[in-house]
Amino acid sequence: MNSIFADLETTVFETMSELARRHEAINLGQGFPDDPGPLDVREAAARAVIEGSNQYPPMLGLPSLREAVAQHYAEHQGIKLDPVTEVMVTSGATEALAASLLALIEPGDEVVLFEPLYDAYLPLVRRAGGLPRLVTLAPPEWRFDRAMLERAFSPRTRVVVLNSPLNPAGSIISAEELALLAEFAERHDAVVIADEVWEHVTFDGRRHRSVLQVEGLRERAVKIGSAGKIFSLTGWKVGLVAAAPSLLKAVSRAHQFLTFTTPPNLQAAVAYGLLKDHAFFDDQRRRLQARRDRFADGLRALGLAALPCHATYFLNLDIGPLGADDDRLFCRDLVERHGLAAIPVSAFYAEGRMRHVVRFCFAKDEALLDAALERLGRLR
Ligand code: PMP
Ligand code: GLN
Repeated sequence: MNSIFADLETTVFETMSELARRHEAINLGQGFPDDPGPLDVREAAARAVIEGSNQYPPMLGLPSLREAVAQHYAEHQGIKLDPVTEVMVTSGATEALAASLLALIEPGDEVVLFEPLYDAYLPLVRRAGGLPRLVTLAPPEWRFDRAMLERAFSPRTRVVVLNSPLNPAGSIISAEELALLAEFAERHDAVVIADEVWEHVTFDGRRHRSVLQVEGLRERAVKIGSAGKIFSLTGWKVGLVAAAPSLLKAVSRAHQFLTFTTPPNLQAAVAYGLLKDHAFFDDQRRRLQARRDRFADGLRALGLAALPCHATYFLNLDIGPLGADDDRLFCRDLVERHGLAAIPVSAFYAEGRMRHVVRFCFAKDEALLDAALERLGRLR
């Protein structure tokens, strides 16, 4: 059989987690925290399983959750959303991405994407018949400029896929870059699909800016969030979609035939959690930032400098100073011989470019981070 999906490799996150299990390694590969997540949010889910409905909720999501999403984004990002016509719930951001790409790309449309890119994007764009046009970003700042957009956009550009904060880079798009993107999207009448799943995981007082806050993009962007990331409950797979009514309607038509809906009890718990006060979100940021600092300091003590990290769960390391020049071989050796799993950053580049950077997830217990550092120290 010859097909875009049949020929794909297993995603790097599953591959590395499987290797970590097989070698009983410390897993700093796939991005998930090792603490259990907020107890009251989990209790809200448990209560909803026992006391609430366990039948199909409405296709667009529980009204209480769509209302909470609108309130949450008004409070945290100053975005005004109509919960009835502009908000939808999906089974994870992954489903939201699939629904958006399937709904908004027509065969032959050009789609502008930025690499590093999350591994779901390219196969889904191609499956929808889109022709990817890549803008390649590079460390340490991972920025783009006008000339890079000029090269990527054409009269056939219909869709742009943006991820900010950016996984794995840990960077946040600047106000200037957002304005440029708005200018190009308007000029080409393109829709922006914005993967903003890391919107709450930002550090050092930096704040995420949503595409829906940008002049010129409010009516032509689909914003995608993930409750899994907002509450450090990555297994929950509750995605949040916000967009102008005509865009949301198109995306909902794809959603109705992908999953149709999402477990009602998890939706109820997310509705509860989204209305928590600012202190909760500030505290989550503070705790993650402390872990980032502990891991970065530990690397520095080994004579290794992590790349800057302003957001996400991830720190990146240039492996050149360790005498390595192939991130995939490096990661395989690290997990098999030293019991530590990480992600090769070339997996986020088409054609495996960027072979000298490796990503570590620092959203872990301090003792585990220290043990990982000790194993890295053996490479020196
Ligand atoms: N987009 C990005 C950039 C991600 O990093 C992730 C997962 N970490 C997802 C989408 C998937 O989110 P979800 O688990 O809600 O499907
Ligand atoms: N987004 C997570 C990461 O970047 C992985 C999600 C997954 O395994 N599909 O590590």
